[in-house]
Amino acid sequence: MPRILITGAAGFLGSHLCDRFIKEGFEVVGMDNLITGNMKNIEHLLGLQEFTFQHQDVSDYVHVSGELDYILHFASPASPIDYLKIPIQTLKVSSLGTHHLLGLAKSKNAKILVASTSEVYGDPQVHPQSEDYWGNVNPIGPRGVYDEAKRFQEAITMAYHRFHAVSVSIIRIFNTYGPRMRLNDGRVLPAFIGQALRGEDLTVFGDGMQTRSFCYVDDLVEGIYRLLMSNRAEPVNIGNPDEITILDFAKEIIKLTNTDQKIVFRDLPKDDPMQRKPDISVAKSLLDWEPKIDRKEGLKRTYAYFRSLSEEDLHKKEHNDFTNYIKK
Ligand code: UDP
Repeated sequence: MPRILITGAAGFLGSHLCDRFIKEGFEVVGMDNLITGNMKNIEHLLGLQEFTFQHQDVSDYVHVSGELDYILHFASPASPIDYLKIPIQTLKVSSLGTHHLLGLAKSKNAKILVASTSEVYGDPQVHPQSEDYWGNVNPIGPRGVYDEAKRFQEAITMAYHRFHAVSVSIIRIFNTYGPRMRLNDGRVLPAFIGQALRGEDLTVFGDGMQTRSFCYVDDLVEGIYRLLMSNRAEPVNIGNPDEITILDFAKEIIKLTNTDQKIVFRDLPKDDPMQRKPDISVAKSLLDWEPKIDRKEGLKRTYAYFRSLSEEDLHKKEHNDFTNYIKK
């Protein structure tokens, strides 16, 4: 039975990855420090013999006993509001944390796949974004702690590959959504659905003409699985190229939730990318991968999840303070 370590196991993507690798017959070691993760996302796995959980911060050290065949590094805060609240941890997990995990991969002779991001392209001046675009990142802006840590992560991962011959893959993840996103993590989909469910106005930042391209989580997980099993070391974009403006997205959510909420406009956060859409030709030709679940179906499934949450969860307001984040 192959054995895999998944960091960020209690998070949105990490928990779906645990499910998938258990289903594929792997023994899974899930690791998380639980600063943004939630044990609820993996509680259904805790009784399984093939699953163990280690409460550990990979930025401090990583110890795993026994053999490992694969490592997936998915631990990181991943929403702009988190970068403001926990900027140092955001920097550390993708830099120091990645260094620790590469060392672990080397010592266990394991293949490692690290989660990078479309944020390495910053506010892109090339559209759509392909892997050979170097990006347009502000290193000292509010998103710099995430973007630069992920860029460092890519650099050190390639260095371990070239210098130590560690087997690596790098996925650049574009906006992804689905069940188990944190309702109050500040990102646009949970924000809009939460607002609709609470009967509040939907807050569109800026004029809403900025674009994103949303990928359903199951499609992303399939892409990760295929990339892990491939020999590709250089980065690969995985995302859904179906691009939409945030204003149109708000309208879609109003329709989906069958509410008649109003749309209100708020200031655009600093360094908010104006457009984002993956060029997925590498994933198509190399992994024979493309997304299968369109936004209509994906949103239906995601809405069903959010509707199943308790009233208490729905009204938790942990992450709504955007005051430091607004462009002056
Ligand atoms: N956004 C919005 N209203 C919200 C939350 C986000 O209009 O309540 C916008 C945000 O300014 C950005 C887009 O939605 O242009 C996607 O934001 P998100 O935080 O989900 O992720 P990003 O792609 O910016 O990392």
